[in-house]
Amino acid sequence: MEKKFYQMTPEERRQTLDLPEKTRAVLRQMALDEAIANNLIENQISEFELPMGLAQNFVINDKKYLIPFVTEEPSVVAAASNGAKMAGKFTAKITERLMRGQIVFYDVQNATKLTDRISVSTDEILLVARTAYPSIVERGGGLREISTRIFDENFLSVDFKIDVRDAMGANIVNSILEGIAERFRQWFPEEKILFSILSNFATESLVKVSCEIPVKKLSKTDNGAEVADKIMAASRFAKLDPYRAATHNKGIMNGINAVVLATGNDTRAIAAGIHAFASLDGQYRALGTWRVSGDTLLGELELPLPVATVGGGVKVLPKAQAAMEILQITEAQELAKVIAAVGLAQNLAALRALVSEGIQQGHMGLQARALALSVGAKAEEVAQLSELLRQSKLMNQATAEKLLTALRT
Ligand code: NDP
Repeated sequence: MEKKFYQMTPEERRQTLDLPEKTRAVLRQMALDEAIANNLIENQISEFELPMGLAQNFVINDKKYLIPFVTEEPSVVAAASNGAKMAGKFTAKITERLMRGQIVFYDVQNATKLTDRISVSTDEILLVARTAYPSIVERGGGLREISTRIFDENFLSVDFKIDVRDAMGANIVNSILEGIAERFRQWFPEEKILFSILSNFATESLVKVSCEIPVKKLSKTDNGAEVADKIMAASRFAKLDPYRAATHNKGIMNGINAVVLATGNDTRAIAAGIHAFASLDGQYRALGTWRVSGDTLLGELELPLPVATVGGGVKVLPKAQAAMEILQITEAQELAKVIAAVGLAQNLAALRALVSEGIQQGHMGLQARALALSVGAKAEEVAQLSELLRQSKLMNQATAEKLLTALRT
């Protein structure tokens, strides 16, 4: 019998593709052990490389860090390093680090019976949770809190706040919920459970980071105070206008996503949580706040960051392990603090550039190199071509192609 696609080896899968041999050879190149890649995802045919760079100048809670970024976007690493240099140092705090899971009932017949029974059965539910995932309890974690929320259209959510220690917790939470859902089925045979799942809206895993910058550090000339006022105004406007807020938050995510990816964490989970948090009051708003007090610009950013130092891709991907070694971090909360500081530094660098020389000027040097590469410039040509591109009026692909041809003749 013919093998199904998922049963094939990666090479067999590549052979089924209608591609030139040259492209198949590109796909064949793998740095990651194929056994890891093929077991990590389904239908694996290759890997996808992205550059890893190190953001510098970060001092967070008085500790210095070199921070690995994985990104395809030019100027992100430079902007973060620049933001960190301006900020000098960051203070980051976490008050709680719990993940929320939900067991959701639908077509609820008797909400009062459900909520009453659940509220008097806390000890029993705690015991079920312990039995469902004993090792997390041994690690000092486990179920902490149970509450219920009633919705229109006869939905009821039972919410569980769970300490997952240094994990992101999706599988831990889901396993605990499955155990409790089983018990609920026995208690409430007349009610229907729709699903049991972790919530990515991690409002119990918030990190708050702040920095204080003397306004004179914001400009090479003497208009630092004006730049600071404009940063404050830009931050204010981004709270009011969702069109601006999306771009403002994208700038913050440039750095956050890059570190989340470098450390083998779940980029989608973090992005979903952060964007949901940006809509906390019903309107999508900018994250982070900048205000001027005397001669100082004060920056503050609060956001959910349930990142992990264990589990998921963290321990499986050798490059993620290397990133952890560079960071010298073993605890999830410390990693979350670092990532929050990266977000604030990135935000500062973007806003400062935006309200002073404009974002393009800063970007262009690095964009020029990417553009040179995109039109086929070889190693030694990249510097020359990017310099020519920076001097040209219009920095685009057509110009780059013309200049490269001229360079080669
Ligand atoms: P894992 O299932 O890998 O669980 C964490 C593992 O780490 C456990 O096996 C645990 O061991 C071990 N561990 C070692 N040291 C510690 C420590 N100090 N603290 C906590 N655990 C420790 O990962 P998660 O449960 O975190 O799930 C994350 C994965 O789930 C990610 O890949 C994510 O992409 C995915 N996912 C995400 C969803 C979402 O976001 N909605 C949904 C479903 C999956 P032991 O068991 O022995 O305690």
